Amino acid sequence: MSGEGSRPRRILTVCKGGHCRAPLAAAVLARHGGSAVQTRAAAVRDNPDGDRLYAVQREQARRRAEREAAEREAQRPVCTRCGAKFTDDRWQSIRQSTWRSEGHDLCGPCEQEAAGRAEADRVARRQAEEAAAREAAEAEAKKNRGLFKRRR
Ligand SMILES: [Zn+2]
Repeated sequence: MSGEGSRPRRILTVCKGGHCRAPLAAAVLARHGGSAVQTRAAAVRDNPDGDRLYAVQREQARRRAEREAAEREAQRPVCTRCGAKFTDDRWQSIRQSTWRSEGHDLCGPCEQEAAGRAEADRVARRQAEEAAAREAAEAEAKKNRGLFKRRR
């Protein structure tokens, strides 16, 4: 330090927000400079350019969020049966269960309806099998009675 006598060097540190970086830099300079430096921290946020910058960034962030939402919406599955768009919950649930792909092209209500119908089909099939088995047993019993009669 030469030429300026005992006048301290004045250093202004500036950053965008003025909360962390500029005060930190000012503190470091003050610590190292001792009485030879005079520091001051400032932020660009308080000036119109800074505000405009923030407004532009906010607008960009808003547009980005809008675009991302639109892209997400474009990927939302549509029910192959009724054509309804999947709800967030339904979409989430088919993404989480990778082990069961059956019915994943259906919306929630259609999937429940399909499951209900499948269950009804199973019950009807079981009842038909039971009825057929009963008839077969009765026919067998009748045949045996017939044989028994003939032998007598
Ligand atoms: Zn549906």
